[in-house]
Amino acid sequence: MSNQLTAGQRAALQARLELRRGELDRRIELRQQGRSRAEHASEVLNQDADDAPQRDADREVDLALSDQELAELGEVSRALRRVHDPDFGVCIDCGNSIPFDRLQAEPQALRCVGCAERAASERR
Ligand SMILES: [Zn+2]
Repeated sequence: MSNQLTAGQRAALQARLELRRGELDRRIELRQQGRSRAEHASEVLNQDADDAPQRDADREVDLALSDQELAELGEVSRALRRVHDPDFGVCIDCGNSIPFDRLQAEPQALRCVGCAERAASERR
């Protein structure tokens, strides 16, 4: 089973993926720099424990976000390696071609809309 994407469509998706990878790289790098500054600040403020629970909560949100970004970066990198493979853009569940419109919105998508919804509801 292969997706009948044209070379031009694949090139457009590749450009989109590269753009997204650049964005994620920058965001992750900025966050890592931000975290080391926050750690320095919390050392300086160590004696004042009043807002410690809030700082912990902020940090948890921060870590969850960067986990999400790292996961997406992995998906985007994998998609970039496969973008010129014949089976790129083929749903991993049902084997149907994922429409180009959907790939444009989410080039790292592995499933068609129907299968993605089913997979998401099975995770819940
Ligand atoms: Zn499917």
